[in-house]
Amino acid sequence: MAESFKSSIAFLRTANSAPTPTIYEAKDKMGLGISPPLSPPQSDTKSIDYKPSADNIVPTNKEIKVNWEGGYTFAPIKEWQVSRAMTKRYGDDLYRTAVSDVVIIGAGSAGLTCAYALAKERPDLKITICEAGVAPGGGAWLGGQLMSAMVVRKPAHEILAEVGVPFEDEGDYVVVRHAALFTSTILSKVLQFPNVKLYNATAVEDLITRADPSSPTGVRVAGVVSNWTLVTLAHGLQSCMDPQTITAPLVCSFAGHDGPFGAFSVKRLVATGMVEKLGNMRALNMNSAEDYIVNNTREVVPGLITGGMELSELDGANRMGATFGGMLGSGYKAAKEAIKFLDAHQIVDGEVVGRKETA
Ligand SMILES: Cc1cc2nc3c(=O)[nH]c(=O)nc-3n(C[C@H](O)[C@H](O)[C@H](O)COP(=O)(O)OP(=O)(O)OC[C@H]3O[C@@H](n4cnc5c(N)ncnc54)[C@H](O)[C@@H]3O)c2cc1C
Repeated sequence: MAESFKSSIAFLRTANSAPTPTIYEAKDKMGLGISPPLSPPQSDTKSIDYKPSADNIVPTNKEIKVNWEGGYTFAPIKEWQVSRAMTKRYGDDLYRTAVSDVVIIGAGSAGLTCAYALAKERPDLKITICEAGVAPGGGAWLGGQLMSAMVVRKPAHEILAEVGVPFEDEGDYVVVRHAALFTSTILSKVLQFPNVKLYNATAVEDLITRADPSSPTGVRVAGVVSNWTLVTLAHGLQSCMDPQTITAPLVCSFAGHDGPFGAFSVKRLVATGMVEKLGNMRALNMNSAEDYIVNNTREVVPGLITGGMELSELDGANRMGATFGGMLGSGYKAAKEAIKFLDAHQIVDGEVVGRKETA
């Protein structure tokens, strides 16, 4: 039924426009039953005599104008050009990042700071970020209690200065006028690094592991399993709905507080027996919480570094509320730990094959 519908459309197209037989019609006369696809690949159009129909005409002589008095005129475009502009790049990215040097889970304040510091320090690394939300930024679009300003305790203001985020100095801490100014600035910097690819609306559903006799649990983390978040939401984490994989010697996880997606990696480590149990985030104590999170951002199991609020779920550290220096510092520290890790291991095709000899 569908075929005959397609054939009749094809007939109408050719009957209106092409007296000479197309390659498809010629082959059809040979009894092969081939009809032209509704959307022929560009390479095919060279051999097919497509006469433009009314809705098929690209007005090539169209004048492109910037005229704000009612004459603003766009350059011409075909719908398939838009589709191909996106799919070609997305496909190339998927192909390229299937083996990455570092995968960052979560583009909140900690994950973005890690990506920034790592990409800046090491332009040779292929850094892939998976963010479950459509909008990267996690909780850092607002300050506490849904207010605008973001408080950052010194010395983490140095990170703000390095990234180029303006702030007001109030002595022991600084204030960014709007948390969104931090997030939008660091996001724009991260996305401009040629060695960073961000997949948003992409949830990490599972971790990839490899046997590793040198690990206390006999396994190491070796990448992530991802899926479009919509698919994950419809079918649940660790579903069998055709996920994608990204192989990497190192995963840096900043999945935030516990929640439907939050604290993803550390919960998965417990579920798979790589970590015994979660400490669960403790009550709020700004003074102790921020130092703790920065200083304890570390490789928690072989191949996986955790920081940000996800670490407080693992270690049972205090929460810190509306002060973000700990998140920035944790991301920065994770980047430093990641470089140490990559420099210390022999890596082949995205997999750790041993440690480098130390002099
Ligand atoms: C929407 C939101 C609003 C918040 N508002 C405030 C506030 O007003 N004041 C305050 O003090 N604190 C707020 N928080 C708390 C906030 O979590 C921390 O202050 C801080 O932002 C934590 O930083 P983080 O980078 O560790 O994690 P987050 O900022 O929570 O970022 C974690 C990121 O990881 C992503 N993620 C999680 N799991 C996965 C997965 N499996 N795959 C891919 N991506 C994943 C999330 O989508 C998120 O973007 C908010 C948190 C959220 C999520």
